[in-house]
Amino acid sequence: MSGTFVGMPAFPEAAREAVHNRTLRGNLRHATHTIRAKRAKAVAEVSDWDALREAGARIKDRTLRHLDRYLVQLEESVTAAGGVVHWAADADEANRIVAELVKATGETEVVKVKSMATQEIGLNEALEAEGIRAYETDLAELIVQLGKDRPSHILVPAIHRNRGEIRDIFAREMSEWGRPAPEGLTDTPAELAEAARLHLREKFLRAKVGVSGANFMVAETGTLVVVESEGNGRMCLTLPETLISVVGIEKVVPTWRDLEVFLQTLPRSSTAERMNPYTSMWTGTTDGDGPRAFHLVLLDNGRTDTLADEVGRQALRCIRCSACLNVCPVYERAGGHAYGSVYPGPIGAILSPQLRGTASEIDASLPYASSLCGACYEVCPVAIDIPEVLVHLRERVVQGGPVIRGGNKVVLKPAKGHAAERAAMRAAGWALARPGALRTGQRLASRTRRLHPRTLPGPGKAWTGTRDLPAVPSEPFRDWWQRTHGGKDGAK
Ligand code: SF4
Repeated sequence: MSGTFVGMPAFPEAAREAVHNRTLRGNLRHATHTIRAKRAKAVAEVSDWDALREAGARIKDRTLRHLDRYLVQLEESVTAAGGVVHWAADADEANRIVAELVKATGETEVVKVKSMATQEIGLNEALEAEGIRAYETDLAELIVQLGKDRPSHILVPAIHRNRGEIRDIFAREMSEWGRPAPEGLTDTPAELAEAARLHLREKFLRAKVGVSGANFMVAETGTLVVVESEGNGRMCLTLPETLISVVGIEKVVPTWRDLEVFLQTLPRSSTAERMNPYTSMWTGTTDGDGPRAFHLVLLDNGRTDTLADEVGRQALRCIRCSACLNVCPVYERAGGHAYGSVYPGPIGAILSPQLRGTASEIDASLPYASSLCGACYEVCPVAIDIPEVLVHLRERVVQGGPVIRGGNKVVLKPAKGHAAERAAMRAAGWALARPGALRTGQRLASRTRRLHPRTLPGPGKAWTGTRDLPAVPSEPFRDWWQRTHGGKDGAK
């Protein structure tokens, strides 16, 4: 069973451990720099990239504005094509639905295509509790599952592992799960891939139930789309008799024309390819071809609450390309595990606190897991202004304040540990609203400036540990202006 993120420490604590791991940092640096350079080249080939990016953002925004309508249209289309649609308000409901569907087939094994939504709800663990074993078939997911590890990247979940580590995991664990690794397995990529291929093939041929997510769902026809690079998705989607797809409600697009935009931007942003090696599309069921039963589980799990936040809702545009991870200086050093969620990096820092709320220590710390350099926004193919949402969420963490939970407006308690920041902000707010008091305070600060400490005490100590405390000028700006320009308002 893969490890879960339950009970993770707050980001700074988890990241501190990671930055001292030299192997991890080396693996991450090498992988992210390689992918980011390739992406930049693939994007530069497209002359209308900015227009595509803008179109992608607008399509997603329009869809989210009318999400209720498109989801009903999707349900009608899927049903008309022979599929069955289930609605799941949260992770527990989605897991229960999938477990019951699998049990109804009499099977105790499923093969899985890589799916962020099923990781988000902890489906593998929930199925295991019901006596059903889920086999991951994406190569990187297989490495994570065999290594009893957690994913650390959206696209390359085993990015933190190097070839030697993967060889050891295969040699040690494969026999526990099925076909053992070949004798004398080395760490050459071809041998590792062949070992995985042989191990997985017997699972594909035996499985009667497949579980997938989807990158997109087209409302007008009820078509689901999975893009991937290894062909394991095609096997999982076509060989089993029953296919169950668990998909977040934000993955719907209205028409095939809309899909055209994302099938150009997603591969270049994620794997730096002009198009994905495998693009699988299916619409309900077809006699004599592919699964005989198809179930679509539409997952909310915090998405409608996120939609209610006017600034934060742009996170739902995300097409999970992972370009923002690959350019993020914080992710490069801290690695994916520190984010305590299946969604690491900049997108995780804005998505997890919205889907899960900011009540836990890890979720309250995530909006701070950024230097706000803006590189994530620059590369995002759907123009999500991640820094804007981070600042917005920081405000929510410090102030508490109203949010929508389960469709109701609730007032969150401010997160622990921010009392000093809140007090400082309240004091600043008070002074800035009273020009007379502000001027008196500035003059007092100027006159006593030689007595000011060079470092801050208490919670501010860490801040001045790496920076100089800005010096107070000998004369406040307003006084200088009045003296040099004359008049109360500066008019001579
Ligand atoms: S936020 Fe943008 S760049 Fe990051 S994974 Fe989502 S779509 Fe890609």
